[in-house]
Amino acid sequence: MKVRLIDVSQHPLETLDEFASASYNTDVSKFKKVGKLLDVCTASGHTSVQESIWFVFHIEDVSRSLLAQFTRHRMAGYCVQSQRYVDQSKFQYITPKTISDNPEANHLYALHMANTREEYKTLVNDYRVPKEDARYLLPEATTTCINYSVDLRSLIEASHQRLCNRAQWEIRELFNSFKKIIYMTVDIPRYGEARISKYLVPKCETNLDCPFCTEHNSCGKHPKLKEIYQVYLNHKNDKEA
Ligand SMILES: Cc1cc2nc3c(=O)[nH]c(=O)nc-3n(C[C@H](O)[C@H](O)[C@H](O)COP(=O)(O)OP(=O)(O)OC[C@H]3O[C@@H](n4cnc5c(N)ncnc54)[C@H](O)[C@@H]3O)c2cc1C
Repeated sequence: MKVRLIDVSQHPLETLDEFASASYNTDVSKFKKVGKLLDVCTASGHTSVQESIWFVFHIEDVSRSLLAQFTRHRMAGYCVQSQRYVDQSKFQYITPKTISDNPEANHLYALHMANTREEYKTLVNDYRVPKEDARYLLPEATTTCINYSVDLRSLIEASHQRLCNRAQWEIRELFNSFKKIIYMTVDIPRYGEARISKYLVPKCETNLDCPFCTEHNSCGKHPKLKEIYQVYLNHKNDKEA
């Protein structure tokens, strides 16, 4: 997987402060620290102001399986390589670790991919099937490239879902890449610390000071909300007894 930031708001935190200042007629020039309103508004749930920051990413070498999961996040713009027009006779593919770690499974998988390439070529070259129809035999593992345009609010909300350990490894890796790139290329050079990327967390870490899980099948990283509440109830009952 390769991920690259094509473009980002020119002055993200400065713009957000200016944007959000309309609420209370705040004089942002008096702020000691730029981006104060991102923290204040996020903490109070005034998350629409996050829409004033945007990013454009280029993503390569991800599977069509990932594409199906990724594009379920409707609050974003996508441009995806067309299998109707781009020749797929040398298609590359993603191999999950559970397959590559097992030599026999890996052999079976690689053989299937090699055969599929040959069958695709036969359909297109020998039977003159248009590429847009021949692609129906391609596997979900086939790699693709995607351009992704998203505002910070949507990226945060999608990260809550896709950085969760219950999400699949490939899309988790993608959202971890977004976080790392924003940290390395936006946060550190412009603000010297994790100002924007700190919000790209799994949903269990939305409340950074008191993480808890609401999943039915928890991964165990943080306590379940029910467990925390039970401790509170026990404490309350002890005090009242
Ligand atoms: C671990 C995991 C497993 C999943 N498994 C499945 C599965 O088995 N099958 C399956 O089909 N999907 C599955 N999904 C996809 C999931 O149901 C969502 O479609 C996907 O995560 C996108 O989320 P979203 O709709 O919140 O995102 P977006 O489309 O980006 O929407 C963002 C937010 O905008 C608002 N919004 C958007 N559209 C509307 C609307 N029409 N009406 C009201 N509010 C709206 C909502 O607040 C929404 O949360 C899975 C997702 C995850 C993370």
